[in-house]
Amino acid sequence: MTSNNDINALCRLAATRLDDLLDALGVEYLPTSKGYSGCCPVHEGADNDRAWMIYKNGDTVPGFWRCYTHHCEEEYDKNLLGLVKGIRKKGPGDAIKFLEDFTQSKCTEEIKPPESLVQSMQYDILESVEEDDKEYITRTEARKNLQIPCQYFLRRGFSPAILNMYDVGYSYNMDMFPNTKCRAVIPIYDDTGTYMVGYTARIIYEKCKYCKKYHIQGPCLDYATSAKWRHSEGLHTHTLLYNWWSAKHYIRTTGTVILVEGPGDVWKLEEAGFHNSVAIFGSVLSLKQKDKIDKCMPRKMLLVADNDEAGRKAIKRMETMCGDLYNICVPRLPANDIGDMSIEDIRKTIFPLAKN
Ligand SMILES: [Zn+2]
Ligand SMILES: [Zn+2]
Repeated sequence: MTSNNDINALCRLAATRLDDLLDALGVEYLPTSKGYSGCCPVHEGADNDRAWMIYKNGDTVPGFWRCYTHHCEEEYDKNLLGLVKGIRKKGPGDAIKFLEDFTQSKCTEEIKPPESLVQSMQYDILESVEEDDKEYITRTEARKNLQIPCQYFLRRGFSPAILNMYDVGYSYNMDMFPNTKCRAVIPIYDDTGTYMVGYTARIIYEKCKYCKKYHIQGPCLDYATSAKWRHSEGLHTHTLLYNWWSAKHYIRTTGTVILVEGPGDVWKLEEAGFHNSVAIFGSVLSLKQKDKIDKCMPRKMLLVADNDEAGRKAIKRMETMCGDLYNICVPRLPANDIGDMSIEDIRKTIFPLAKN
């Protein structure tokens, strides 16, 4: 042991030999312009070898890392201590000991509870600096390649302003947005709203009353891509919350989260002045999604699902999952879903429940 350090100093010291550290942790990696990338070494079954990145530099914390599919850094912290914790899964004491041995130095700091919440703002700023990183498409680039707003959602009654706010449009670039012919593209961003993690795309046709598929008016041919929604390849919707990048701040400050099924519900609520809604991409709330919400510590949860049998089942499931932690409210919708309601009706229905 040669010197005394606090945790940040210990991480900084370890980051000076990042490749050795990754070797010591058994991580497989490839160099990038700013550090290394590879399969996420933290979560089980990681198979996307570009979805995990670690950066050599960063003003306050060199060696910060991100898992773009499962966001493991949120669970373990984005510094090197968090990485060691996430890989070894033996707790903070073990991780500090590991870094002490690796750096041949002693940590003087008390072991603190997870810092992810406290530090998330700081990292948000830090990470937005990484905007020119070529591995991931930035929001700015995504917008440049979309014709925003798109006719399809305008026709369905969404305002140009809201579609512009959420970057909803037709693709100009089929390399950036594969498989989106005849579809309206809805980009999905990372927690900071800086990078696109993927997209979902709604077919512009309505359901055919004969074959029940979504296709252009005319004969029911064997259309290859007639699904209503199509996600980008490798998009793990069960680990994501649509609008999280924008809503998380409001969820923290209002103490209330509104859970909805799809992006369209989020836009409607946003138009009605509610900034704290997130969509779960369907009717099943995953544990991963719940974890994300738990970290913001809202007290109240508004569950909005379609006003039908499937919707009621979905709400029952979520009540069971979340009932002991949250004060749950289920608004009575006067229509089948939020999408069919006027802004005025949405305000009348949601506002009394959403206020504290
Ligand atoms: Zn991961
Ligand atoms: Zn048909």
